[in-house]
Amino acid sequence: MRPLSKIATSLKPSATMAVNATVKQMRAAGVEVFSFGGGEPDWPTPENICQAGIQAIQSGFTKYTPASGTSELRAAIAGRLKDDYGLTYENSQIIVTSGGKHAIYVALCCLLDPGDEVILPAPYWVSYHEAIRMAGGTPVVVYAPEKQGFKLTAAQLEAAVTPSTKMFLLNNPGNPTGAVYTREELEPLAAICKKYDLYVLSDEMYGKLIYDDAELVSFPSLSQDIYERTVLINGVSKSYAMTGWRIGYAAAPKPIAAAMDGYLSQSTGAPPSISQAAALEAFSGPQDAVERMRQGYDERRKYLVERLNSMEGVSCTVPKGAFYLLIDVQAQFGRTLAGRIIEDDADFTQALLEAEHVAVTPGTAFDAPGYVRWCYASSMEEIVEGLNRLERFIR
Ligand code: GLU
Repeated sequence: MRPLSKIATSLKPSATMAVNATVKQMRAAGVEVFSFGGGEPDWPTPENICQAGIQAIQSGFTKYTPASGTSELRAAIAGRLKDDYGLTYENSQIIVTSGGKHAIYVALCCLLDPGDEVILPAPYWVSYHEAIRMAGGTPVVVYAPEKQGFKLTAAQLEAAVTPSTKMFLLNNPGNPTGAVYTREELEPLAAICKKYDLYVLSDEMYGKLIYDDAELVSFPSLSQDIYERTVLINGVSKSYAMTGWRIGYAAAPKPIAAAMDGYLSQSTGAPPSISQAAALEAFSGPQDAVERMRQGYDERRKYLVERLNSMEGVSCTVPKGAFYLLIDVQAQFGRTLAGRIIEDDADFTQALLEAEHVAVTPGTAFDAPGYVRWCYASSMEEIVEGLNRLERFIR
């Protein structure tokens, strides 16, 4: 047999999806697992949104829609971007996709040619690196250390630019770090993008989940120049607890949006009509559930940070957004825990799962060796028990 494609055979499967699958398997086998692995809201999808989905089925709204989504949904998304960030997009600039991940992949496919480099700050969400490669590009990873709050500086960005650099990939608020960039931090990054004529992919999927004094400055709102070179990514999965409905979107300058529309028409076609009807209700219906869930995450975040930073041998930086944080576990390396010598974050993760049935994601998956990611989109009871178990484990 002739081989599969080079990309397919060298692809690293998603570590976050793998953790989710392992937890589901263990639970199916009757094991009680405390999961802080894959990032998925524990809240149910709000009732009004579910009803809109049911209504779509019952009224026969079950056929093809235009490839980039219904005009009602695209208008509702444009309306939300206007209300939330003062951004102006026409319907034709909004591309609805099967989840945020899909919007990222299609945008990359429309912007990259073989050899094009994309500057990717680490720690980064697992799928960016491989999506860039799948689209034929080359990820250029630049590490933003914890002492910088896990945020890339303009000097670091500029130092990574080569004649082949085509794009800068920004994730704000950040997964897995929970870092949120201030306007003062974004503006110098924007200046570098302008200076070197770079496209920007700004993934703001967690933009509604920010805490304390943090403010989400949407990247395309920085200036007209930046608007013209930025593809904004968002969706309903995290803010509206709709991961399984698979609705994401890109808001992009017209030529990029037109290319994405063509791509969708020849590949997936539109996302499910039923999910689009539910997303329309999410974006245009009452927004109070979003705030209620945000407050819930905030309460868990505060508790988690306090407990972690009072434990000996682990520590974390206070996250300002999303529902993740990175725990520094380097002080555990060289120890024997639960009968296993801990040499790296993967050992730590595996031993914690086996000994205490607590699932987290190893930092190496995010190019953050020495850390593990804890997702706090779980109930307070689970978080309390998970922390008790972590404490016992490292003691
Ligand atoms: N985005 C979430 C995470 O980082 C969900 C799983 C995925 O698609 O990666 O865990």
